[in-house]
Amino acid sequence: VYLEKILREKIRDSKYANLQLGAEVTSIEELEGKVRVQYKSQGGRKQQISCTFLVGADGKRGYVRKGYLEAKGIRQEVGV
Ligand SMILES: Cc1cc2nc3c(=O)[nH]c(=O)nc-3n(C[C@H](O)[C@H](O)[C@H](O)COP(=O)(O)OP(=O)(O)OC[C@H]3O[C@@H](n4cnc5c(N)ncnc54)[C@H](O)[C@@H]3O)c2cc1C
Repeated sequence: VYLEKILREKIRDSKYANLQLGAEVTSIEELEGKVRVQYKSQGGRKQQISCTFLVGADGKRGYVRKGYLEAKGIRQEVGV
């Protein structure tokens, strides 16, 4: 909890970051040299953002794995 508090303060004070709570990624598209991510903001409004790199940290049941990578046939190897 303490680490999270510090991280949130750093994000709030950074001009390079924008913390969006309660948002949900709904689609990811690779365009030429860019990635476009569509998401619903906390209030349910549709938004989008374009970036050069996308880091998916939404867990093993999240959209990046289930909705994007697995739809392209990229699956996790079953562990031994
Ligand atoms: C019951 C249980 C007990 C566990 N116990 C242990 C343990 O004792 N020790 C251990 O090392 N590990 C344990 N684990 C595993 C551990 O919880 C996970 O390995 C770890 O949380 C994975 O971290 P993560 O950041 O990749 O994903 P997560 O912790 O799953 O975080 C993903 C985040 O992405 C968000 N998200 C999901 N979909 C979207 C979307 N479409 N748009 C925006 N955001 C989204 C989620 O709301 C969540 O906040 C346990 C897991 C479970 C379920």
